[in-house]
Amino acid sequence: MSDTVLSVRDLSVRYRTREGPVYATERISFELKAGEVLALVGESGSGKSTAAMSVLRLLPPEAEVLSGQVDFDSQDLLALEDHDLRTIRGRRISTIFQDPIAGLNPVISIGDQVAESLMSHLPLSKKEARNRSLNVLRSVGLSDVERVAKSYPFQLSGGMCQRVMIGIATALDPEVIIADEPTSALDVTVQAQILHQLEQLRRDRGTSILLITHNFGVVAQVADAVAVMYAGHIIETGTVDEMLDTPLHPYTHALLATLPRLDNAGRSLAAIPGAPPDLSEPAAHCPFIARCPKVMNVCRNEPPPPLAPGAHATHPVACYNPIWQS
Ligand code: ATP
Ligand code: MG
Repeated sequence: MSDTVLSVRDLSVRYRTREGPVYATERISFELKAGEVLALVGESGSGKSTAAMSVLRLLPPEAEVLSGQVDFDSQDLLALEDHDLRTIRGRRISTIFQDPIAGLNPVISIGDQVAESLMSHLPLSKKEARNRSLNVLRSVGLSDVERVAKSYPFQLSGGMCQRVMIGIATALDPEVIIADEPTSALDVTVQAQILHQLEQLRRDRGTSILLITHNFGVVAQVADAVAVMYAGHIIETGTVDEMLDTPLHPYTHALLATLPRLDNAGRSLAAIPGAPPDLSEPAAHCPFIARCPKVMNVCRNEPPPPLAPGAHATHPVACYNPIWQS
């Protein structure tokens, strides 16, 4: 579809560990549309970060991509030459990760870090880059930017560091931002400010954002569309209204049932009884059977077919026995 900016198809990633393989994502597909915030939600270990890191080939060496493609601007990012990928990374698709302090170099001043990232993609002199970096810091709501620019990461709060990361991620006006739990290390007030900042980017610049979170409150607040992950599978996708008003998968129901309807910010998904399955083998049945109130025989025999965007009558769900609300 023409308004699809980034499309992940059939992505399977396995990690090699001393204890054996971990099938972290299995044949997942999702599409990020122009100017949209797509939230990837799911419990810890469901494969969200693996999916996010795959897009720009940032997976660690122990990870193996078994199948899939990532389409961006008519190119498969998984098949691209390294030097071509470098022109996209940070420039056209950028990332914001959970821990802002870890994302910054501790021994380089903030101003120099921002300037360096500008110079790595634009033909700027050092002086021009320094001046521009002050504007970058202003653009993310930091005040006293001269002082911030001279500071080292440890001299700033977590919220300030995250703003710097957002500044770096947005300075080159990327088409896509991948934000992996960008607010979970921050207190609630700063969380709200950072989310507001992301929303503003989308509104003012039409940036498409893949927002990874385990917090449905955040989803309700900023997302347009949602993809729910469970044990390495995307089990339901839809608009945020479809997901909140007519969830179909029993897992999505369970997620939503753990939340009060309105005041749900800050609640995590960990409250669902039971544990996710072992990922040491590819799924031989629906991954949710051990926790599912609607399990049938067919669910035990083979996994539901993976979701393919656009191929479903209602919003897509990977379930033999979805819950239809009357
Ligand atoms: P969280 O919400 O905790 O960040 P997540 O949804 O981002 O979780 P991933 O980090 O993608 O989940 O992990 C998916 C699975 O892959 C988990 O079982 C995890 O233990 C495993 N995994 C992730 N990274 C590695 C690694 N480097 N080596 C081995 N296994 C890994
Ligand atoms: Mg993660």
